[in-house]
Amino acid sequence: MLLIADHISYVYSPGTAYEKKALDDVSLTINKGEFIGIIGHTGSGKSTLIQHFNGLEKATSGTIYFDGQDVYDKDFNMKSLRSRVGLVFQYPEHQLFETTVLEDVKFGPKNLGLSKVEVDLRAFEAIKQVGLSEKCYDDSPFELSGGQKRRVAIAGVLAMKPEILILDEPTAGLDPRGRDEILDQIAKLHEEGLTVILVSHSMEDVAKYADRIIAMNSGKVAFDGTPKEVFRHYKELERMGLSAPQITYVMQAMKELELDVDTDVSTVEEA
Ligand code: ADP
Repeated sequence: MLLIADHISYVYSPGTAYEKKALDDVSLTINKGEFIGIIGHTGSGKSTLIQHFNGLEKATSGTIYFDGQDVYDKDFNMKSLRSRVGLVFQYPEHQLFETTVLEDVKFGPKNLGLSKVEVDLRAFEAIKQVGLSEKCYDDSPFELSGGQKRRVAIAGVLAMKPEILILDEPTAGLDPRGRDEILDQIAKLHEEGLTVILVSHSMEDVAKYADRIIAMNSGKVAFDGTPKEVFRHYKELERMGLSAPQITYVMQAMKELELDVDTDVSTVEEA
């Protein structure tokens, strides 16, 4: 195991009129090498949860263990968690700001106290990992296409050499081709051994790529299992605000891929 959330709860703006319990007693284990999809309707707690995984938010109660260490322990190096658990936010290209692609990707590793050569090597490797060519090193990130900008932003996180890569809606706003390219690239990183967590409202995407799905509902883990195990609960998923046509589609696709769905998909639409 790599990361454990041990009974974590999180409350936004406690003691005010805006008080909101965003996570409610969440416990789960992330194992090395997994490809996990996190699904759930808007406001179910997905973003809050992943921000706990790299220490951006601190649980109101409960704790997180990374590699066996309690990350809230005063001796734990929280800064190291930020690089070991790489978080790619929604629309990460909004955070590009350097004048060239290479400088942008180098920004994170430069702050790790590495030698100049090591920083360069990490940037070269990360740019390659996201499928961009060295021809783009000196390009302005602002002149690239939407999909390419996003790759540059992902490369900036990969250059930190994270052990877990978390992506929050990485395909938002991309056209179908850009979407498939990014997802295929992420799948390749997973094949190369990276632990990946993909937050997505698209059940189609998570069913296609993830080997485990965590479904969030009202700040709690509603389901946690293989796509087959989770989609079997399609009626509850629909009640949780996830779209019935998407669930039907996913189950049909899984059946076509002979992924052994034993539920009669024709009943989903009636549910
Ligand atoms: P999701 O990523 O699934 O859309 P979030 O983790 O963003 O869910 O939100 C979970 C809950 O916390 C929602 O009810 C949301 O309105 C609330 N919330 C999120 N961010 C804040 C914030 N900064 N201040 C107050 N409430 C927030």
